[in-house]
Amino acid sequence: MKTISIVIPAYNEENNIAPLTTAIKSFFPHHRYQYEIIFIDDGSTDNTLTQIQKIAQQDKHVFYLELSRNFGHQNALKAGIDYATGDCVITMDCDMQHPPHLLNSLIEKWEEGYDIVYTRRIENQNTSLVKKESGKIYYHIFNWLAEVNIEKGTADFRLMDRRVVEIFTGFNENDLFIRGLIPWLGFKQTAINYEPNERLSGKTKYSLRKMFLLAINGITSLSIRPLYAAIYLGLTISLLAILAIPFVIISFQPHRHIIFIWASILIAIAFFGGMQLTILGTIGLYIGKIFLQVKHRPLYIVRKTNIPDHQ
Ligand code: UDP
Ligand code: MG
Repeated sequence: MKTISIVIPAYNEENNIAPLTTAIKSFFPHHRYQYEIIFIDDGSTDNTLTQIQKIAQQDKHVFYLELSRNFGHQNALKAGIDYATGDCVITMDCDMQHPPHLLNSLIEKWEEGYDIVYTRRIENQNTSLVKKESGKIYYHIFNWLAEVNIEKGTADFRLMDRRVVEIFTGFNENDLFIRGLIPWLGFKQTAINYEPNERLSGKTKYSLRKMFLLAINGITSLSIRPLYAAIYLGLTISLLAILAIPFVIISFQPHRHIIFIWASILIAIAFFGGMQLTILGTIGLYIGKIFLQVKHRPLYIVRKTNIPDHQ
C-alpha cells in the first residue's frame, strides 16, 4: 500500500485541529492507502499544541512537529514536507478553507501520473474583496517580473509526488515562496478547481502587512528583474535630461520669475531623491537577502516531535 502524507501548518488554530482531523479521516480513502497527518505547530500561543498532542495520543496516524517559535507559514510547510515520509505529500491549511473532500480528487490525479497536483481557488463570497483584487494585481506583476507563471487563485493546497518532494527538501533558501517555486520546478503538473469554505474558527493570520511582505519576498526570491528596472529607469531619465538641455538654453529669458525656477528645481530634487532611495532600497533588499542566506541558518527549528526516529 502506498502512503500519503498530509502536512498542515497551524498557528493559533486550537478550535480547528479536531474538526479538521475528523473531516480528513472521513474523506480519506482508507481502504486503498496508508496515511499520516503531520501538524506543524508554528509557535502557537494558544492550546493548538495540546489539542494536537491529545489527538496524536489516541490516533497513530497523527504526528506533530513543534517549532521552537513562530517561523511563518512557508517555513512551517517546509518543515512538514521535510519530515513527511509518504509516497506523496499533500499540503493544506488548518482552517478548513481548503476542503478536505478534495483529497480524493488530488490523489486520483496523482494516480493518473501527475507529479504535482495544485489547486485553483474559484472566488466566492468566502474570499474577501481585498484578497481577490490584491491577488489579481499581484500575480500579474509577479508573472511579469519573475518569468514564471503563477495561476490566479493558487495557494499552498497541493499534492507533490515523492520525486518532487526529494528535490524540494534540498532547497535551503531563505524567504521561501513555495507557490512561486512550484511552476519553476516543472514536472508533470495539473490543476483542480475548488471553492473555498469559510474559515472555521479564529481569524486570518495574513494581515495586509504580512501579505505585502510575502508579496515582496516572492518577487525578490525568484527574480532580479527589479534591478533591471533601476537601470532602465536611470537611463531613460538621463536621456530626458540631456534632451532637455537645448530647450532650457532656447527658452532662457533674464526676467523670468525666480519662484518658478526654484519650485521646479525643488520638485526635481524631491523626485530624483525619492527615486534614488527606492532604487537603493531595492539593491539593499537583495544584499540583505544575500547576508541572511550566507549565514546558512536553518529555516525552522523543531523543539519536539512524536515522529519516530526524530524524537
Ligand atoms: N500559518 C502558520 N504560520 C503563520 C501564519 C499562518 O503556520 O505564521 C498557517 C495557518 O495556521 C493556516 C495557514 O497557515 O493553517 C494559512 O493561514 P491563514 O488561514 O491565516 O491564511 P489565509 O487563508 O487567510 O490566507
Ligand atoms: Mg485560511
